[in-house]
Amino acid sequence: MSEESASDFRAEYACSEGCDFRASLMDVVYRCPRCGGLLEVAHDVKALRTVSAAEWKRRFETRFGSARLPDGSGVWGKREWAYPQLPAEDIVSLGEGRVPLKPLPRMAAELGLAALDLKECGVSPTGSFKDWGMTVLVSAVKHMRARGVPLRAVACASTGDTSAALSAYCAAAGIPAVVFLPRDKVSLAQLVQPIANGARVLSLDTDFDGCMKLVQAVTADTGLYLANSMNSLRIEGQKMVAVELCQDLGWEPPDWVVIPGGNLGNASALGKGFELMLSLGLITRRPRIAVAQAQKANPLVRSFRGGFQELVPLQAEPTLASAIQIGNPVSFKRAVKVLKAFDGVVEDASESELANAAARADREGTFTCPHTGVALAALEKLVAQGVIARGSRVAVVSTAHGLKFADFKVGYHRGSLAEVTSQFANPPVELPATLDAVKGALADLG
Ligand SMILES: *Cc1c(COP(=O)(O)O)cnc(C)c1O
Ligand SMILES: [Zn+2]
Repeated sequence: MSEESASDFRAEYACSEGCDFRASLMDVVYRCPRCGGLLEVAHDVKALRTVSAAEWKRRFETRFGSARLPDGSGVWGKREWAYPQLPAEDIVSLGEGRVPLKPLPRMAAELGLAALDLKECGVSPTGSFKDWGMTVLVSAVKHMRARGVPLRAVACASTGDTSAALSAYCAAAGIPAVVFLPRDKVSLAQLVQPIANGARVLSLDTDFDGCMKLVQAVTADTGLYLANSMNSLRIEGQKMVAVELCQDLGWEPPDWVVIPGGNLGNASALGKGFELMLSLGLITRRPRIAVAQAQKANPLVRSFRGGFQELVPLQAEPTLASAIQIGNPVSFKRAVKVLKAFDGVVEDASESELANAAARADREGTFTCPHTGVALAALEKLVAQGVIARGSRVAVVSTAHGLKFADFKVGYHRGSLAEVTSQFANPPVELPATLDAVKGALADLG
């Protein structure tokens, strides 16, 4: 069977707020110049429909089995749905995506769920799901530079994971990267990642929202390309989390997907992935979506409780879930649209709830980050409230690898985290180095 090349398909920018603005993906534009709305990458769905659902599945499965990049990438193995006209030589892939779907059968049984699976998006080159989107953005920049668009560097504000991803992909592509980080508000691992990858790291005396304002101002006129999630290219990679999840489940979506949300780009991407699969017939049923926030940074929760009223930006307070300590989410409107389309709900978690939920999952062989803890805690609460019915099949998007947050884990098991009562603390046993002491410490193992 002949495969048409990916370049038989086309995608372009369109205004996400419904006005008729269109632009090439080669244009340096982040917002609609007519109405100020965010842009989205619009695919030629009619052209994509000329390939049957069965053929898309076959094609994706075939590439999924490849050990070689870019076919073996969870994003570029589905490149017709990401950035179809991008020439292969401009793809910058580090082997993102194609991550495990880890079942948590004990926790599922305890909660009365038919299935509970963690989509381990942090098992990835830089340890977070941000890689899924950054591969598309940096590839697009490589392509623009190759065609003479004058871009000196790529810049982002970050709560720690976006900057790590940007730095690694730019390093691979040989493109300068500049990252704006809120001083003392990212983990040590997150700080050292862009340093190691040779990015220019600006550590600023402000929070994420403060960094965001500055990077937007700087990128407005200096030939620096903005890599934050208002840049809708990233959504094109991140939406593959939804596609890969369905693929993992034999193209049968779960009843619920629970995802942590800060700037809300990822929740928006999830919706976009499901919508595309629905319109091309790869799935026929909509899952419901639950977005989880930390109580300390919950502007979406507050809006939801008032029936999705206008976003009221707030000053996010420090939370263990530092990557979602965001008070003014840029993708608020996109996320509300997705939540409405997927009969969604929003829930939040306290510091103690998120830390204990993360620790509970760890006891089943994973190593969850605090943000995934927020999602798991929200899941526990939604099941207790009866919103997520017993017997449901639930997938939780795990957004980063817990190894990036070693301080959080150590503090939890030492019992030293503020506002947290550690229910599952498992501190090391300190002993003299004698056989008797060791035997004594192991006597209860049976
Ligand atoms: C960025 C990030 C999030 C939040 O994603 P948004 O798209 O900003 O909502 C959640 N968890 C981790 C680990 C992240 O790095
Ligand atoms: Zn517009």
